[in-house]
Amino acid sequence: MENIQKALAKYWGYDGFLPSQRQAMECINRRQDSIVVLPTGGGKSLCFQAPAVVMPGLTIVVSPLISLMKDQVDALTECGVAAARIDSSLLPEEQNSVMTQIQNKTLKLLYLAPERLVSDSFLRILRRAELSFIAVDEAHCVSMWGHDFRPEYRQLGILKKVFAGVTIGAYTATATEKVRADIGEQLYLQDPEMIIGSFDRPNLVYKVRQRTDKIKQVCDVLDRHKGESGIIYCIRRKDVEAVCAELSSKGYNTAPYHAGMMAERRKNNQDDFIKEKVDTIVATIAFGMGIDKSNLRYVIHTGMPKSLEHYQQESGRAGRDGLEAECCLFYSAGDYGIWKSLMRDMEPEAYKIALVKLNQMYSYCTGGVCRHKAILRYFGQDLEKDDCAACDICLGQLDCVENSLETAQKILSCILRLGERFGGSYTASVLVGSRDKRITQNEHDTLSTYSLLNDYSQRTVHDWIEQLVGQDYVEKTGEYNVLKVTEKGWHVLRGKQSPRLLKPARRPAKVSKIARDSWEGVDRGLFEALRRLRSTIASQKRVPAYVVFGDRTLREMARRRPSTSEGLLETRGVGEKKLQQYGEAVLAAIRDYCLANSLEMDV
Ligand code: ADP
Ligand code: MG
Ligand code: ZN
Repeated sequence: MENIQKALAKYWGYDGFLPSQRQAMECINRRQDSIVVLPTGGGKSLCFQAPAVVMPGLTIVVSPLISLMKDQVDALTECGVAAARIDSSLLPEEQNSVMTQIQNKTLKLLYLAPERLVSDSFLRILRRAELSFIAVDEAHCVSMWGHDFRPEYRQLGILKKVFAGVTIGAYTATATEKVRADIGEQLYLQDPEMIIGSFDRPNLVYKVRQRTDKIKQVCDVLDRHKGESGIIYCIRRKDVEAVCAELSSKGYNTAPYHAGMMAERRKNNQDDFIKEKVDTIVATIAFGMGIDKSNLRYVIHTGMPKSLEHYQQESGRAGRDGLEAECCLFYSAGDYGIWKSLMRDMEPEAYKIALVKLNQMYSYCTGGVCRHKAILRYFGQDLEKDDCAACDICLGQLDCVENSLETAQKILSCILRLGERFGGSYTASVLVGSRDKRITQNEHDTLSTYSLLNDYSQRTVHDWIEQLVGQDYVEKTGEYNVLKVTEKGWHVLRGKQSPRLLKPARRPAKVSKIARDSWEGVDRGLFEALRRLRSTIASQKRVPAYVVFGDRTLREMARRRPSTSEGLLETRGVGEKKLQQYGEAVLAAIRDYCLANSLEMDV
């Protein structure tokens, strides 16, 4: 482990481990098979890369996508690690050069797609190479129970036979029990150690709002992140085109991405995004897998995803560098209906499961529970603290109405007076005293609960009904989502339990603590100057910007403002290779900026 720590400092410029990394590396050291489940951004790659560097021989990394392999190999090469990939996009001479490196045993890591690894010709070559370890990345692809099953991954079962003595590690962000067990079985792992990290992502600030004015709500988020990278997810392709067009016309630097576009245009847009020529990608969920861009500062959903698994995956693409990032979800009751109608043709069994997941997603949106807690609970984990300090609820951006209990009782009584035969929209109209023709025709304007909440808008009351549904006080039944009071709801009517009804924020929003900390002492102007330098270097070298330096590293440079190589080397994310390549340019940029702005250096 000592050697590994030295390598971390030397090649990556890191001074320690992220949670579970050490444990995962120790397994490799003592040659024990392992299954490592860490959330997106949890630092899975380093778990096998760092041991690979210090062990004698070659580590094979199995990965499902060319873009993922390319990203990691580029990043490793930048750090000065001997890594390569073989895939269909390589020219014959490039491929030959990698083969030579394998034969000469100069390579530490080799990235391959599963079908290539298990091909006879390749197995023959690798039998002659000295293998230190096999890492199966995105290992959930092996399982039909995962969300991204790939038949090629099934063939990896032969590895334990062909390379009997070689340890295997499987890495994934997919947490369900079934998938985990399946990975072990399919790969014939021997008594694998399960390493399951916390699924909490404390640096993500979750916010959920009803969708009222989509473009305005999206622009508000974008305006908080000028010039920074992020994704806007839409449910349908036509929404992608519409949102993207409107944002462009307002001067935002966006590009669309969905499966219906010409492959070339899609790829160009993706490349422009990775190279930071485009700030914001507007996309369907077709976008994301294979994007390891670590400095996404926001992920916006303009519609509700169909499950919390999806939401966790998509929002999880933000803030992989551990710095604060915002995940904003704008939903409407209509999204529920859209998904339900899209699911209509499913097999009955699958439909039932999908509907449960959809309902859980909806409860997340409308419920008044801490977002971090709610997501963790869904994955069977618990949040230790009561205040996450990083969600709209805990930050007090949405506060509760003072008389929640009384208001809830009015709503519940109205549902009962209506004979539990009407939906949310109608019930809300009755409560606010609407003169709607349907209501007068039904003579519901004569009910004692008519107009009981006439101080509020129909929208607000409808929201509260959704919140009561989210907290299980009311349920929606049948095709028309007719409201019924649940047993829990009866406790409220008897005054034994009080629901949480939210009102929209009025007081100014608190800044999250993580945001304050990580910008503490950072000179924003210098940060911008370093970002420009990074972008120039990246386009010269034709690598993504974050491969050169992460945002965290730039912030630290702009905070400490080192004047010497030694000082620069102390910065997290700067190893010897990077110092040698960019040290001079970075030090010059810092010096120029500090002189011009009379700023103190070596803070
Ligand atoms: P995953 O594959 O689990 O989604 P990655 O391997 O892509 O995550 O790592 C996510 C981010 O964490 C990367 O930006 C990486 O540089 C950073 N990281 C990983 N390990 C460390 C560490 N020990 N110290 C600091 N940053 C780290
Ligand atoms: Mg990964
Ligand atoms: Zn919270």
